[in-house]
Amino acid sequence: MKLNGSPVTEHHFQGHHFFLKRDDLLHGHFNGNKARKFMATLEQPLKGKTRLIGWGSAQANSLTSLAALAKIKGLKLTYYVAHKPAWLDEKPMGNYRTALELGAEVISLRDMFGEKAPHPSAFIAQQHENDPECLIIPEGGHFQDAKLGISKLADEILSWSRFEKGRNIKVALPSGTGTTALYLSQQLKPQGIEVLTCPCVSGKDYLLSQFLELGETEYYPTILGLPSKHHFGKLYQEDYELWQALQEETHIEFDLLYDPMMWRCLLPWLEESIDTTILYVHQGGLLGNETMLARYRRKYGDHQAGW
Ligand SMILES: *Cc1c(COP(=O)(O)O)cnc(C)c1O
Repeated sequence: MKLNGSPVTEHHFQGHHFFLKRDDLLHGHFNGNKARKFMATLEQPLKGKTRLIGWGSAQANSLTSLAALAKIKGLKLTYYVAHKPAWLDEKPMGNYRTALELGAEVISLRDMFGEKAPHPSAFIAQQHENDPECLIIPEGGHFQDAKLGISKLADEILSWSRFEKGRNIKVALPSGTGTTALYLSQQLKPQGIEVLTCPCVSGKDYLLSQFLELGETEYYPTILGLPSKHHFGKLYQEDYELWQALQEETHIEFDLLYDPMMWRCLLPWLEESIDTTILYVHQGGLLGNETMLARYRRKYGDHQAGW
């Protein structure tokens, strides 16, 4: 199974020429940055393990990646969510549906314990931490094991950049936990390539605390932001319109949860940095668009014909 060496394509958006690292094309169900982050786990022998234990949102991209990983390794995935919306079970979609098809078991702690449900990470620690058959994966792949796969991505970017010597290349990608942007920056910054990111989940302080939690104190990526607060998973008309414009101009489907914010930060930044060429990292996550798109269409309608 080949899980590296994704292609780089070339595009224009709103007058800016940019390159796109296509990690969305790594593998059907095991792609994007989750494939990079879980590569070390994929390559480990995992002797004596029968189960992967994960947690997060029922619609997270990491749910599908963990389900695919478990399947490839011949393990069972038990994935805990704090809460699972009722409509999702009535009409499973996107990551949730795909994970169920791959054999994942998704357990809602609220369904089990009601309002007094423990936090998934606390429940997992108490229930599974001492079980030698279980391998526990932190939410979103925010762990040091992610470094190996992301270093491979950095190597690919470095090799590619050697053929673009005349350009001032900077790498851009949005952050959730910040794991991908941080480990990329640690490999690329010493080689003279700056990494730009933005905090999609909370503010800049949260992102910095995530970097520290991984035990890292240097070679941080540059954090761009928006003038107003941006809430994770909330629907913004500007995000939807930007995502549609991106699709129209590049014919590439971007992710709806993270990518619009990064582009909203990048566009004004690019106006001031005319000597820079961006290599944008497409981090996959397109299964998640199914649920996001349904929510957007319900709220704003499908006013862009043609796709
Ligand atoms: C998980 C994910 C991210 C966030 O990655 P981090 O390493 O947690 O910052 C961004 N984009 C997509 C598409 C993802 O699936």
